[in-house]
Amino acid sequence: MTVIARYLTVAGSGISDRELTVDIIDEALKRGRLTVVCRGCAWGDSHQTGSYYDDTDEQTAQRIAETLPAARKSAQEHAEKCRALPIDDNR
Ligand SMILES: [Zn+2]
Repeated sequence: MTVIARYLTVAGSGISDRELTVDIIDEALKRGRLTVVCRGCAWGDSHQTGSYYDDTDEQTAQRIAETLPAARKSAQEHAEKCRALPIDDNR
């Protein structure tokens, strides 16, 4: 599992919490999909890359590169509006 890109949410920006992010993840075990996950509210999205199991590493990289702009757009749009804060049981 590799985090390809990370966007700070508006809530994280407001309180300087760098862990409140929206991450774009390449789940190596599930080639063919980029997953977008918000660490603030657990919102998620996924983008199919159209990969095949017998793709070469170069083909996989190319498919990810082609899919990334849509995943980035989705992640950035969510990060710009997400004001969710995780519940902290210690407060
Ligand atoms: Zn969120």
